[in-house]
Amino acid sequence: MFRNRISDMEKIYLDYAATTPVDPRVLRFMRPYFADKFGNPGSVHGAGQEAIAAVDLARERVADSLGAEFRQIIFTSSATEANNLVLRGAVKKFRKEFPDRRPKLVVSAIEHESVLETARDLEREGVELAVLPVDKKGIVKIGKLQELLDERTALVSVMYANNEIGTIEPVQEIGKIIADFRKSVRDVKDAQNGKSQRAERSTERSGSTPSTPYPLFHTDAVQAFQYLDCRPEALGADALTISSHKVYGPKGAAALYVKNVGTFKRSNERSDSTLQPIITGGGQEFGLRSGTENVPAIAGFGLAAEIAGKDRAAEAARVSGLRNKFWRELKKMNNQIRLNGVDIIAEPGLRLANNLNIWLPGRPAEETLARLDLAGIRVSAGSACASRAQRASETLKALGYPEKRIKESFRISLGRPTGTRELHQALKIIRKYIAAK
Ligand code: PLP
Repeated sequence: MFRNRISDMEKIYLDYAATTPVDPRVLRFMRPYFADKFGNPGSVHGAGQEAIAAVDLARERVADSLGAEFRQIIFTSSATEANNLVLRGAVKKFRKEFPDRRPKLVVSAIEHESVLETARDLEREGVELAVLPVDKKGIVKIGKLQELLDERTALVSVMYANNEIGTIEPVQEIGKIIADFRKSVRDVKDAQNGKSQRAERSTERSGSTPSTPYPLFHTDAVQAFQYLDCRPEALGADALTISSHKVYGPKGAAALYVKNVGTFKRSNERSDSTLQPIITGGGQEFGLRSGTENVPAIAGFGLAAEIAGKDRAAEAARVSGLRNKFWRELKKMNNQIRLNGVDIIAEPGLRLANNLNIWLPGRPAEETLARLDLAGIRVSAGSACASRAQRASETLKALGYPEKRIKESFRISLGRPTGTRELHQALKIIRKYIAAK
């Protein structure tokens, strides 16, 4: 499948958390949809039918990989757009439902920029923003969540796994806290309305939905999807984001799982969806995301999601084995070297299988990145977007690390094509770099 052998002249890519190459099977599958099968899925004729069939198949594949229903998958152009849709769409809907309440958002301190910056933008528009802090390992302080929830909370967004330090967040527990909170609001309302205890119990038995869908719970599972079971129902999530280009699919496609998609015809009509669209127009994607579908990218994403779902457990075991061995070798080279975030030996279940975020004291990350790149190894500092903008990592700041440590930290992320030979070569190069001080 992927090339695994390298020659001295070849580059060693160890930045799979930034993006992944397209799987050749995916590329082959996408190809006809660029030119031969180029129809618009909205067209009624045969060419349109061909295109909509490809989008439908992709939706089915993504839905299956999440244990979700066909209608619960909304395709977008990127995870950034999906995160915008869920945050902005939930606030918009909340405002419509409760015009006299100031909406509140709760997000963790280490969310990807697409959540954090969107939340800050909404704050400038009058939304109250509450940030859930993390501990020194980067795990959200779950005990604090309860006190941030109230009847104005439209949405809580906590990522499943962090893109910089790979921390796996306790999303299942968060889902449970939110579900309990919703139930407590319903119970108080029922008591206020004088509902008898018996009626209340029968409502519970019949499994009817609580009177409030708020707060909605969203999790950004972009980094988690390749390595962890991301079924939203098991996590208790009302919305969940995944991205094609992080799982060996093409760029330009992502998906938002929405538990209650409802029906939405036109932007000014009432809908029973938990979100309002932020892109209006022709009403594609069940009215939640207008715009002609990116058929080749969506088709490729569908297959990539299916493959990721199938080889998840084996790949997680393989990659974490390689990663742990690599880390042990790195530590032998320099006894000052440290891991940022969770300790992979003591708590292997709390860090994503492919991630290392390394502090190399005395060596600025800029220098490490440039030198390693020249020597043929591609790694990164923080998230891809933040490192271009030369901003210090907000994630590492949230963990409480001093400025110097943040500036001397970089990320190595392994992927499907990574093999022993390549890592052996990488270790040789890094050893030389460390020795050349
Ligand atoms: N969320 C997380 C956790 C990510 O790692 C990324 C990409 O780095 C995104 C969202 C944004 O994804 P996209 O590039 O599809 O917009």
